[in-house]
Amino acid sequence: MRETSDSASVPRALGRRRFLGLGAAALALPLVSRLSALTSSALAPLPADRDLAFFNTHTAESTAVEYCRSGCLVPASLVKINHILRDTFTGEIKPIDVDLLDLLNTLARKLQTEEPFHVISGYRSPSTNAYLRTHGGGGVAAHSLHLVGKAIDIRVPGVKLRDLYRTAIGLHGGGVGIYPESDFVHVDVGRVRTW
Ligand SMILES: [Zn+2]
Repeated sequence: MRETSDSASVPRALGRRRFLGLGAAALALPLVSRLSALTSSALAPLPADRDLAFFNTHTAESTAVEYCRSGCLVPASLVKINHILRDTFTGEIKPIDVDLLDLLNTLARKLQTEEPFHVISGYRSPSTNAYLRTHGGGGVAAHSLHLVGKAIDIRVPGVKLRDLYRTAIGLHGGGVGIYPESDFVHVDVGRVRTW
């Protein structure tokens, strides 16, 4: 499933008649995004052995795993990652996109840190996302990529939030947003954009 917020916003912004007139252009947008995403990847080359460490700030759980060994995904490690990045409000577990894991692995190497990613939000169920939107969750999108395991909110001990933000932007791997008042950076593997 891909993000649908862009196409969904067109009819509201332009009105139905104008939207119908722009139908072909609107339909072409997702293709353009996908092509630009393909040509802007800064993640390669990835090492054959890849690890990740997380600390869940809501449950105080920690995990450190090698999720890819000799270029092959390690299913038992993915189970651990999916568990620690679950929706901690409802307990729901969904697969986290491996592209996001590779982005985080690259980010950790760029930051030259051995610290775990401190996780504020990983996978988010529809009910939790709706709750956060109606309870002052500024910046919580209706079609958030957290809903499909393609986004994570993080901070890293010993790394300034601004440095984390700039380093993540430099990867051109997707969206990056900074939330200084809540002390975290959002990263996702959707379209490349910043806020
Ligand atoms: Zn987020």
